[in-house]
Amino acid sequence: EAKSLGKMRYEFFQPKMAASQKAQLDLENVISHALEHDEFEVVFQPKIDIKGGKVAGFEALARLNSSKMGWVGPHEFIPAAEEKGLIDYITLLVCERSCAFINAMGEVPDDFKISINISPIQIADSRLFRELQSMISKAEVPYKHIEYEVTENSLIKNEEKSRRQLDIQRSLGFSTALDDFGVGYSSLGHLKRFSFCTLKIDRIFVDDVHHDGVSKVILKAIIEMANSLNMTVVAEGVETVDQLDTMLDLGIDHVQGYLFSKPLAAQVALDFLAHFAYPSELQALGASAHR
Ligand code: C2E
Ligand code: MG
Ligand code: MG
Ligand code: MG
Repeated sequence: EAKSLGKMRYEFFQPKMAASQKAQLDLENVISHALEHDEFEVVFQPKIDIKGGKVAGFEALARLNSSKMGWVGPHEFIPAAEEKGLIDYITLLVCERSCAFINAMGEVPDDFKISINISPIQIADSRLFRELQSMISKAEVPYKHIEYEVTENSLIKNEEKSRRQLDIQRSLGFSTALDDFGVGYSSLGHLKRFSFCTLKIDRIFVDDVHHDGVSKVILKAIIEMANSLNMTVVAEGVETVDQLDTMLDLGIDHVQGYLFSKPLAAQVALDFLAHFAYPSELQALGASAHR
């Protein structure tokens, strides 16, 4: 009785403690616990060079299989980790596993890349980038094999600092990518003012284009501009052969999506890479683009 009374009193004096606040609190504990007990995993999703018919690289994505909460999606734990100051630990873990992946490959093609996601709040943090660089150096991974993916909202907040940091990383030899293009601002100005190596078209755009002639015209213009700026263009979230066909018509370079593969555990991704052959039934696609 004393216990339940105590609980009532607690609720009485903290009426504003919303359920979402409590969930945030718990999530902070869950993330710290997971970092300490090695409960984060890193999975790798292939990016396919659809003109060359080979694997161009992988995007490294964080996964949390918590002993306290079970599977937690990145859309939940990434914002919480950002808010609680824990995101750097996740990024460093992702980087560590990405280096291990490259070192496990044996021979690495010159233009092969593993992409690491950088949160908006990390983009101007030179200390984090130095830590990443030092980790990659120690692993003896050439910088050209690592790509940093940033989203457009990172650039809006802190345009000067972001540009400077991205310039530094590129001059060191790292690759940079603009992620999720097509949601939010989608400013062509950003393409010009920031010299990204790669442009990633968001899955929402890929989906729209498929049944919307207007977005196809817009996307065509964006891709032409990106190509003229020597950027590699990647389409995210390609799930169907029809979408792949459209991407080939549009002149997209790389495709990432369930059509080819979901994100895979490191060993499975290494096997995927070792045995990849461009499916013969897809080889006839996009022929109209080459006519
Ligand atoms: P993102 O960087 O845009 O990553 C691509 C997301 O699309 C991944 O979701 C991937 O699993 C999903 N995806 C790929 N192909 C398909 C497809 O064909 N269909 C569908 N429906 N989805 C597809 P995921 O792994 O759940 O990650 C979600 C977001 O969480 C990522 O979006 C990224 O913004 C963030 N994230 C994941 N790991 C990290 C990390 O280590 N650091 C940071 N800062 N963010 C991360
Ligand atoms: Mg990404
Ligand atoms: Mg993306
Ligand atoms: Mg996305």
